Amino acid sequence: MNKLSVERVPEPELRNEQDIIVRLIAGTTCGSDLHLIGGHIPAMRAGDVIGHEFVGEVVETGPQVRRHKVGDRVVVCSFVGCGRCWYCAHDLWSLCDNTNTNPGIGQGLFGHESAGIFGYSHAMGGLRGSHAEYVRGAQMHGQRYVPMLLDRLTAGELRTSHLATHTVSLDEAPKAYDMFKHKTDGCVRAVIRPGA
Ligand SMILES: [Zn+2]
Ligand SMILES: [Zn+2]
Repeated sequence: MNKLSVERVPEPELRNEQDIIVRLIAGTTCGSDLHLIGGHIPAMRAGDVIGHEFVGEVVETGPQVRRHKVGDRVVVCSFVGCGRCWYCAHDLWSLCDNTNTNPGIGQGLFGHESAGIFGYSHAMGGLRGSHAEYVRGAQMHGQRYVPMLLDRLTAGELRTSHLATHTVSLDEAPKAYDMFKHKTDGCVRAVIRPGA
């Protein structure tokens, strides 16, 4: 708890046929990470990788991946949806039945289990997060709002650059979280760029 550091971990590998591997371009600090770091969400374990909203480039795809190919640039949301269950079929991706491998914990915590979330403790599937050079995207599908948001960004109707007040390399991530938590230097969000 309250201990954040940058460590060397094994590279992710494809495990399922619908998996992709994404090379990180940028990710961001999120207020909910502070709950994980501060121990307010139980079920974190030593060595867990946080980070759950990111953009990157697809570098590997499993044989069942149809919508993305190597070289695609992707925007990835926190929740992981299988694309096939009743919830995903009804655009309720955050309730996907298949991507959280520990549904019992969420059931006890919130009264209903959620889908798996990248880097969001073992209550939400224990998936590795995105503050890393590479991340395994399990069963990724385009989710409800991303296509609409990308269209509006392209049309210039939505601006987000004012939110990204600081940009840091992966090595500086713990410092960035400290700034983000205490709002020092006017920090709204820090963007973490592994390649920076
Ligand atoms: Zn978040
Ligand atoms: Zn699903």
